Formats: sequence, structure tokens, C-alpha cells
Amino acid sequence: MVASRPLYDVAVVGAGPAGSRTARELARRGLRVALVEEHRQVGLPSHCSGLISPRTWKLGETGDDSLLCNRLRGAYLHVQGDSSVELGGTPVRALAIDRVRWDQALAEQAHRAGAEAVQARCVGVERTPQGMLLRLQRNGHETTLAARLVVGADGAHSRVARSLGLPPPPQRVLALGVEAEVSLPRDDYVHVFVARGHTGELLESDEASPVWVSIEEVPYHEMWEDDKYWLPAVLRGEKVYGRFFFDRWKLKKGEVYLLKDAGQLLLNLRQLPA
Ligand SMILES: Cc1cc2nc3c(=O)[nH]c(=O)nc-3n(C[C@H](O)[C@H](O)[C@H](O)COP(=O)(O)OP(=O)(O)OC[C@H]3O[C@@H](n4cnc5c(N)ncnc54)[C@H](O)[C@@H]3O)c2cc1C
Repeated sequence: MVASRPLYDVAVVGAGPAGSRTARELARRGLRVALVEEHRQVGLPSHCSGLISPRTWKLGETGDDSLLCNRLRGAYLHVQGDSSVELGGTPVRALAIDRVRWDQALAEQAHRAGAEAVQARCVGVERTPQGMLLRLQRNGHETTLAARLVVGADGAHSRVARSLGLPPPPQRVLALGVEAEVSLPRDDYVHVFVARGHTGELLESDEASPVWVSIEEVPYHEMWEDDKYWLPAVLRGEKVYGRFFFDRWKLKKGEVYLLKDAGQLLLNLRQLPA
């Protein structure tokens, strides 16, 4: 193991929008910041369709309008079969941006403000009497980086959070992504499809290694602990509302209700002990 780097005030793990912007603000205030990113090129591979709200764009403060691909004012909502509903109007509801270049612009701003780029994967974080010690890996070599504070901006599956025993995100949304070329009657509208079924081939991504399983053999024991309480109902075509509370990745309590179409609570499926 190589000796620790000099002490930073803050180590920000992840040069996504959250990490780069945090690093930029901290560096602008005179703190010594390390911005740790596992990929050689910030923003790649992209895991975003690039649709953001005007507010998010404003918060980014890149000041580079060439990153804006489109200003969107409405949507064609396709519910079933050929039926569709048009929603929208004059105000700009969303912006389509070049997400890869946006991430890169934000990271560049952080570096110009003084944050030091460290290209490495953070594989663990521990508390020390002096602050925080990050274990980093790069090209098969392991090193450490010491900082007074660490910011875990390493995405939805944050290794920093896991290392420190912090709870996972309170809510997860299941979704399928499809890439296709479609024509649009208006180029400032988007298509939104609500689907009840799908066919195709699952591809591994940075975020998941998807596999097909039969509905009768869902491997609940390999999944998040709460899944077994609500997924069976969803797979039966029911709508559910539920809340789950985790502590250090363990499910502590939760509840699930079956919902009628109108959103009426019908049945308390499970009330776990606190
Ligand atoms: C398919 C898909 C489409 C999406 N489309 C949209 C959309 O249209 N609009 C929208 O607003 N949101 C969209 N999202 C969500 C959006 O991508 C995230 O909300 C957003 O990127 C979160 O930003 P972040 O900075 O928190 O994390 P991220 O953008 O995930 O950045 C985390 C960074 O941390 C780095 N990292 C991770 N682990 C480590 C580690 N151990 N060590 C070092 N570096 C690490 C990663 O390489 C990455 O650069 C989409 C997500 C997916 C998966």
C-alpha cells in the first residue's frame, strides 16, 4: 500500500453533477478539495437521458448555452394502444441537454476553482481520529487519501454511504430504458409512453446486471429485503403504496397497502415491528 496523500479539507467522491458542484462551491470558499472520480473521462458512460428541469439547469450555473439541445414545452402521453393525450403549452417545462458535456463542464468548473482531480475508485472509507481515510484503487494498485470530511456523491449505489453504514435511499423507482428514433409532430414536445408489457434483450449497465427470471421464481432472498412485501402484489397487477425504513442496510419497519384505482387504501398487507 502506498503512503497517504497530503490531507485535504474535503474529499468529494464522484464527479457527477452533485459532486462537481459541491467541490466547486467548497473550493471557491478556499477549502482544499479532492474530487475523486473512478472514470478516466467525467460524464462517461452517460447514465441519463439528459432531460432536466429549468431549475436544475440554473443551479448548474455553467453559463454555456451550447449545452442546451432543446427547450421542451409539452408531451404526447401514450397510454395504451393508439390513444394519446397532448399536454403542454407555452412555458418551458423541461430542457434537453448534452448531459455528458454538462457533467464535464461542471467538473471543469470545480477544477478551475481549485479542486484537485483524483482519478481512482473509492473502495472504502473509514473514520480515523484525524478525520476520514479513503481507500482508493487505480490500475490494480491501492492507495489512501486522508481528508477531514468526505462527501459521498457517488450516485445511487454509493459505496461511501455503504462503507459508513449510512442508510440506502428511502425510495427506489423501477424503470426500463429503451433507446429508439421516433418522429415528433412538434420538436419542442416529447413522447411519454406508459407501458404494461415489454419484450427485448436485457443489457448489463454500470448500475445493474439484469437477468430474466420467471415470475414464479423471483429470487427474493437475493434482493432488497422489502421487495418480497410489495413486488408480488405488483406482479399480480395490483397498485401498492408502501414505506420502508432501513438502518445500516437492514429493514427495520415498513408497511404496504393495496391501492384501488382511485388511490383508496384497501388492505394493510404488512406492518413490521419497529
Ligand atoms: C437510464 C437513466 C436515465 C436517466 N435520465 C435522467 C433524465 O433524463 N433526467 C434526470 O434528471 N435524471 C435522469 N437520470 C438520473 C440521473 O442520472 C441522476 O439523478 C444523476 O446523475 C444523479 O447525479 P449525481 O451527481 O448524484 O450522481 P451520478 O451522476 O450518478 O454521479 C456519480 C459519479 O460518481 C462516480 N462514482 C461512483 N462510484 C464511485 C466510486 N466508488 N469511486 C469514485 N467514483 C465513483 C461515477 O462514475 C459518477 O461519475 C437517469 C438515470 C438513468 C439510470
